[in-house]
Amino acid sequence: MKTDKVYLEKVAVDPKGYPTEPCGEFAFAGRSNVGKSSFINAMVRRKNLARTSSAPGKTRTINFYRVADLRLVDLPGYGYAKVSKSERNSWAGIINTYLEARENLLEVLLLVDIRHKPSELDVAMYDYIVQSGYSGLVIATKADKVAKGQRARHLKVIADTLGVKERSNILTFSTSEKQNVEDMWAILEDIVRF
Ligand code: GDP
Repeated sequence: MKTDKVYLEKVAVDPKGYPTEPCGEFAFAGRSNVGKSSFINAMVRRKNLARTSSAPGKTRTINFYRVADLRLVDLPGYGYAKVSKSERNSWAGIINTYLEARENLLEVLLLVDIRHKPSELDVAMYDYIVQSGYSGLVIATKADKVAKGQRARHLKVIADTLGVKERSNILTFSTSEKQNVEDMWAILEDIVRF
């Protein structure tokens, strides 16, 4: 994927702020600190386009990154311990509205940290994604933090906890393994072609 003309197209909290030009979108969900900004920065080959979180949980917006004729959509991270109940509800509202309203959404991918058993919030998010009719693709981030020989065991915990039906639906990713970016783009571009 050519990433020389990448830009932040819109920052939105509700449909009034979404980009209107029709183009295929991939959205990324996950708890704060899972590595979502780092993932998007790696995919668009920029160091700092998506903010990486010095203050986790701060982003309460949907950020639309335009990459050629596609969009990568950064959904607000959830699960930050210090947010109030009303903030949590507003977060859920922002995500639900987006998932329900967006006809050009190709897939919603859930990011989880390869090292940890997915939380209840991850399970709820995953159920919601699958029930909404998406494939249920999962990205296990920070793969470099687990030795190659141990990864299968971690991926099994993730698959079992989330109830992932096909093992091939879990993709591993690490910002320190450059080949991951090419592999991930190949997967996304295959979905577009399909
Ligand atoms: P976000 O809150 O989901 O956007 O998470 P960030 O992208 O800000 O990442 C949270 C922390 O995890 C940061 O300190 C990142 O440097 C680190 N991180 C993210 N991805 C990776 C990775 O693939 N490998 C390693 N070792 N650290 C990562």
